[in-house]
Amino acid sequence: MSVSFHLCQPGGGASCGACCGLYNFRDHSRPALQERLQRHTAALAHVAREPEAYRAAARALAAQDREGALFPAVRICPLLGFLPRTPQEDGPRVGCLAHPGVTGGADLRDCGVYRAEVCETFTCPSFGWLGDAQARLIQAACADWYLYGLVITDVEFVQGCLRLLAWECGQEVAPARLQAHPAALAQLRALLRLKEEAAQGSADAGAEGVFGRFRPDAHGEPVLQALDYAALGLHAAPEDDVVVCLGALPRSAAALQAARDRVRTRVRAVAAALREP
Ligand code: SF4
Ligand code: SF4
Repeated sequence: MSVSFHLCQPGGGASCGACCGLYNFRDHSRPALQERLQRHTAALAHVAREPEAYRAAARALAAQDREGALFPAVRICPLLGFLPRTPQEDGPRVGCLAHPGVTGGADLRDCGVYRAEVCETFTCPSFGWLGDAQARLIQAACADWYLYGLVITDVEFVQGCLRLLAWECGQEVAPARLQAHPAALAQLRALLRLKEEAAQGSADAGAEGVFGRFRPDAHGEPVLQALDYAALGLHAAPEDDVVVCLGALPRSAAALQAARDRVRTRVRAVAAALREP
């Protein structure tokens, strides 16, 4: 399975900047990231489109961004911001403000945290692990600058949700069927929004210091976390593949049961919508 179109800017309101460090903050809630991207965009708006000026602006922004980084070993690019809006677009898109298509010709991506060649050619694992139909479904269900990147980069979460839906429906549900059913698509968005709610919940609780299934090790590198069933006194359940993608792990049996219930309720809502004409 692999994706044959460009996942980063697929159109329809979806856009992603995850590999540029968009979510690499202890507080990676939507309001916090929106404020940061607006700051980057405003700071770069009047900078001369030449390397020296861009490098100086990038250094100043990077100094502000270092505060609050979640994985210090993972880079955060200060040249990520909101792209200029076209009249056809309903909402903002996140993207590279040093790309020649944005600067009006100059390729200033060498002024960021990677070489321009790396920025141009990099594809994240989702390109290989998702198929076109799944990716188009995520694009349709999460058509905004924040949720799309959060979901499209978490293949285990996407496939875990679709697996639960298949169990609930008693058969695989073709992504095209979901996409063609507005009510089911809206419920799917509500299911996938669990990722956003988890990020906001983590921020409200004072930033847990986790991102999906990852927490930083002693060197600031992301390491996988897992449920400790022995300590919780529970056996594994089908919903757990999704629960572990939602950040801070439940610390008690009751909390894990509540998290499973939240997932199950949203999966059932998608299945119920699909049963309607
Ligand atoms: S994380 Fe993947 S989809 Fe997102 S911008 Fe990077 S390469 Fe594109
Ligand atoms: S310069 Fe590269 S890393 Fe920085 S925002 Fe642009 S594409 Fe992302």
